[in-house]
Amino acid sequence: MVKQIPRLIGLQSYKTVWQLVSHYLKNDKLRQAFSIQPLLVGGNPFDTTSIYCLIHYLERAYGVQFAMGGTQAIVAALEKLMLRQGIEIRLNQTVERLLIEADTVKGVVLEGGQTIEADVVVSNADPAYLYQRMIEPKKQSLLTRLKLKKSQYSMGLFVLYFGTTRTYPSIAHHTIWMGERYQELLADIFNRKILSEDFSLYLHRPTATDTSFAPDGCDSFYVLCPVPNLQGGQEWAVEGPALRDRIVLALEKTILPELSSVITEDFFMTPKDFEHDYLSEHGAGFSISPIFTQSAWFRFHNRAESLKNLYLVGAGTHPGAGLPGVISSAKVVDALIPRLIPE
Ligand SMILES: Cc1cc2nc3c(=O)[nH]c(=O)nc-3n(C[C@H](O)[C@H](O)[C@H](O)COP(=O)(O)OP(=O)(O)OC[C@H]3O[C@@H](n4cnc5c(N)ncnc54)[C@H](O)[C@@H]3O)c2cc1C
Repeated sequence: MVKQIPRLIGLQSYKTVWQLVSHYLKNDKLRQAFSIQPLLVGGNPFDTTSIYCLIHYLERAYGVQFAMGGTQAIVAALEKLMLRQGIEIRLNQTVERLLIEADTVKGVVLEGGQTIEADVVVSNADPAYLYQRMIEPKKQSLLTRLKLKKSQYSMGLFVLYFGTTRTYPSIAHHTIWMGERYQELLADIFNRKILSEDFSLYLHRPTATDTSFAPDGCDSFYVLCPVPNLQGGQEWAVEGPALRDRIVLALEKTILPELSSVITEDFFMTPKDFEHDYLSEHGAGFSISPIFTQSAWFRFHNRAESLKNLYLVGAGTHPGAGLPGVISSAKVVDALIPRLIPE
């Protein structure tokens, strides 16, 4: 990272995404349109380092990719590959803690007490959860504990999945639906951690590309609404249904006419579900946020900071959230792990 400092200075990485975009664009709406992308990896454009303007570059240079069949198709393909390699997959089992002797990880203990011994453990859990809850306090390193104390977390996500009994052919695969407020709304979500009445949305319509997502004459969607993570203390059992109704109404009034009468098979996930289903610390959508001091070398390392034989992949680790990031983290770990079996 030290070697990269001159280039980082040249690229003005000390500026935020908003500052860099504002340097080139004057129109407020354009500034919003060109700075909102850090939300896709859990960052507030007003705090996120301008390194993340690379999202624009990647989209322009390589295009936006979609796996036919959706993310599930990628999971199924990886599963097939693993089975072909003779890898055993155990589903619906939670790792409760790591098995540690002195400073070396020797395996994992599952919920229910079963122990699995291993030469190397690669964790795909949220690192904030791993370091605080899957390692007994006396084995936690002081440095990691200090780092976690100061960590800032990404926002929470409210995701409403729904079908419609009619189609909306004019809606593109990806739509960003901007609310009236921008900086103040982001401050509500990230800093004040207030769930406000208004919102900005990302609307996904996979049926625009892959008709297998819905029966003939129907459409399939999800809408993603950035919200405060659980540090905001919202009562999601109450707020969830109310937010669902506000979003349906807002979309009906604007780009999805008749929505409330044609919506079907809808369900939603709140930060509470992210905490419960994925063991994500504070129910954050993308682990720790991508501010400068939590990016690149400063993010959780792919080789554990203080324990031997433990490697980390996933959104909270270097290089960061999003599928390209997490797949890259796996490639880094592949290069780091010593070859135990000669090739
Ligand atoms: C609605 C939505 C849309 C998105 N769209 C895109 C997109 O279009 N493009 C893109 O690039 N990214 C997208 N992302 C982001 C991307 O999905 C995530 O950044 C990525 O999935 C993170 O991968 P991960 O492996 O770190 O974590 P996860 O995908 O959350 O996988 C971690 C898994 O580990 C399990 N786990 C955790 N702890 C334990 C434990 N102790 N024992 C056993 N299992 C455990 C969890 O249950 C989970 O299944 C989207 C995210 C959301 C929520």
